[in-house]
Amino acid sequence: MVKSAAAPLAGSPARPPAPRIARAVARTGSSAIRDLLEITERPEIISLAGGLPTPDAFPVADLARATAEVLADDPHAALQYGASEGFRPLRAWVADRYRVGGGTGHEAGVAGVTITHGSQQALELLARATTDPGEVIALADPGYVGAIQAFRSAGAELVGIASDRHGLCVDDLERHLAAGLRPTLVYVVATFDNPTGATLPLDRRLALAELADRYGFWIVDDDPYGTLRWAGPAVTPLRELSDRVISVGTTSKMLCPGLRVGWAVSPPELARALVVLKQAADLHTGSLSQHVVHRLVARPDGWLDAHLEVVRARYRAQADVLVAELHAQLGDRLAFRSPEGGMFLWATLADGAGGAVGDTSALLERALAHGVAFVPGRAFGVSADHPRSLRLSFATTDAAGLAEGVRRLGLALDRSGR
Ligand code: PMP
Repeated sequence: MVKSAAAPLAGSPARPPAPRIARAVARTGSSAIRDLLEITERPEIISLAGGLPTPDAFPVADLARATAEVLADDPHAALQYGASEGFRPLRAWVADRYRVGGGTGHEAGVAGVTITHGSQQALELLARATTDPGEVIALADPGYVGAIQAFRSAGAELVGIASDRHGLCVDDLERHLAAGLRPTLVYVVATFDNPTGATLPLDRRLALAELADRYGFWIVDDDPYGTLRWAGPAVTPLRELSDRVISVGTTSKMLCPGLRVGWAVSPPELARALVVLKQAADLHTGSLSQHVVHRLVARPDGWLDAHLEVVRARYRAQADVLVAELHAQLGDRLAFRSPEGGMFLWATLADGAGGAVGDTSALLERALAHGVAFVPGRAFGVSADHPRSLRLSFATTDAAGLAEGVRRLGLALDRSGR
């Protein structure tokens, strides 16, 4: 209402209701993990919750040098508006990375590469470019919270597909398809899934690629964690098995998330659609970030490989500590698989553990009172609840913190009985 000193006149029309917030906001829902981050930032809490990369592995000095070089050599381009599809040399670097290997996948030419504001934006643009409101996107249940939000905000109907220790149960997807489900896209984190840490084996990848062909849907393979493998053999990337695969990647886990540089690699006609939506969303990803990233990752001296070795070694050491402490301190109260890469360990309360509480959301309340945080399974639910599961991240906390965090988790479990 326009503020006025005069009192409203008797008989003046009633004030209309407040301007409204669109339904899309409620439909999207706030991320339970981002909400939890507020609590886990309290210094007394040891966080096994957020998927924050360890700051100790951020390449601060190399980034400073690369930034200084970019600003000395090419300041105008790095500080100017840029192309919506992204900085061309960076797109060419991405295309080169995805060209390795053979198979039937689409040739990742530069025309198919769209640089996005983190891979999160790639998910949001992809949903809107492929899926009209009310159409279906299928994904593993439990699923990545950010993808669930992006797809819901685009108006998609989400259908959760069962998943097990090998990731998406492709036979369950096949049953849904046979029963008439027609998704526009199927979303997977095929390597070191968030939250389950599972890696989809080759037979399931082949079966998924075959279904995409038979039923005509896109596969989005979101892969922030594939470069973080320290054990076990790598599995053939989905993009080499089908030309319906869109690969999504990011520098967030390789370098640091604050740069906000990610990408989608798709057939060129879909890339053109993404660019239209990106123009509307934000014109383009930050030029300075893209130039700095390119300067670092494309260094001819193999800097990136050496850096990734350091990051992997760090996560491996932290994962080993978490696994050893869970075994030593909690015995058989949690069932889980030892990670071979990525940032997460998915655990399930053994029968009897958790006692009367039984539910990891209630357990979290007790855990916070003991000064440790994790993410309860419910946060990742698409159609199901996962009440007995929880996600532990070993990425952010050092060895001493992990050991103490597990001790506190044990206290929370004790209090909830066996
Ligand atoms: N996909 C997955 C599976 C993730 O875990 C994350 C980060 N938590 C993202 C995408 C988004 O990462 P970013 O936007 O930083 O690239």
